[in-house]
Amino acid sequence: MLKLWNTRTKSLEDFHPLHDKRVGFYACGPTVYNPATIGNLRSYVAEDILRRTLELLGYTVEHVMNITDVGHLVGDRDEGEDKVEREAAKRGTTAWDIAKEYEERFLRDIARLDIEKPNKLPRATDHIEEQIALVKTLEEKGFTYKISDGIYFDTSKFKTYGSFSGQKLEEKEEGARVAANPEKKHPSDFALWKFSPKEGKRQMEWESPWGVGFPGWHLECSAMSVEYLGQPFDIHAGGVDHIPVHHENEIAQSEAAYGKELAEYWMHVEFLLVDGRRMGKSEGNAYTLDDLIAKNFDPLAFRLYCLGTHYRSKMNFTWEGLEAAQHALKKLRQAARELEAPAIGCAEFEKTFAAALEDDLNVPKALAVVWELLGSDQPKSAKAEALLRMDRVLGLGLKEYIGQAIPVPDEITALAEEREQARKTKDWKRSDELRDQINAKGWSIEDGDEGYSLHVIEERHKFRGEES
Ligand SMILES: [Zn+2]
Repeated sequence: MLKLWNTRTKSLEDFHPLHDKRVGFYACGPTVYNPATIGNLRSYVAEDILRRTLELLGYTVEHVMNITDVGHLVGDRDEGEDKVEREAAKRGTTAWDIAKEYEERFLRDIARLDIEKPNKLPRATDHIEEQIALVKTLEEKGFTYKISDGIYFDTSKFKTYGSFSGQKLEEKEEGARVAANPEKKHPSDFALWKFSPKEGKRQMEWESPWGVGFPGWHLECSAMSVEYLGQPFDIHAGGVDHIPVHHENEIAQSEAAYGKELAEYWMHVEFLLVDGRRMGKSEGNAYTLDDLIAKNFDPLAFRLYCLGTHYRSKMNFTWEGLEAAQHALKKLRQAARELEAPAIGCAEFEKTFAAALEDDLNVPKALAVVWELLGSDQPKSAKAEALLRMDRVLGLGLKEYIGQAIPVPDEITALAEEREQARKTKDWKRSDELRDQINAKGWSIEDGDEGYSLHVIEERHKFRGEES
């Protein structure tokens, strides 16, 4: 039985899907005006683990993720420029080109991290009609009002507004008062439809019953989740930064429009810190996956790094930590190579592995089971079978390493033996020379309690989506 922490009820709950073995899963996706940061990517990795765990447990998952290509304004509120249009102006290109470029880059990033591609990736600009229809429904039910720059949702009409994030309306209003539009009835009210500015035409704008404009940022998630998953659906996920505004507003729109719950379970992934500090563009530490690759890190080393911290804890990213993860990944691959082709299962390890995941996705514990399995004296073929199944959740691409041990050439063995003799006579200079010779031929030598072991120095792993 999968247990999941539910942000909505603030408790650990048994997971019961609404429809037998089918799970509707919606995750808030990227705003496509800049590359995803490693903080964003951490969330997508955690959501991928949830999806793969559900699949391990026999569920069929319908995974929907939106692509925000319009309406997300600078500062995440209802003021300021559209992030996509601003980037287009800066770069001297069109908003459509910016959106396309960063959507492609996002898909490449998630492929490199072995994140299963969501079944549906709907764009906000492809669902303008549905969004307008939703505003009409809210208007008919009396939840909206019009001011000079758009149609707004009246949060005072939605009785439970604020309860999701555990904030009282007054507290929320206090937080939102800064830079609030004086025409709004309450500072926490938010735009459903914004009018195009009177001076200067927008690139992305549409006709609507209220005037030419574009949808508010929160609207697309409400409109597209009901379109693809119905309402209510099972699990809604996102980063913790979405709780106080974006998700509170999604809930208000969807539940006011349809009079029923938006989603049963809400999963939120904690922040990623860099060197113990908050990540940000102005801090110069908003790293992207390309930054990691430029320093010769394997994207899957970052994935493994993420798996080492529970998704509800803050993850502290350091370059040393990433280095350690890369080393651990190499060791995993080496251990996989030394197995034999799969035959029968290691049932006990697999059970413990699944139980760790069922406990609110305890991946660090599941990883410990992997190491335990590899160190156990089970038959190699049985270990291989178990490792294969575990990696279907972990997504570390170990399949291609299993049983692929590379025989040590005689020449290397001879050098290693010679080095062993040099070590016995404490001739460290000769021993170091021999190690250099072994390394130069593409092998590494490690000294352990039971003598030395030889490993081929891996070339960098080719990741998914990389051109050969
Ligand atoms: Zn959303």
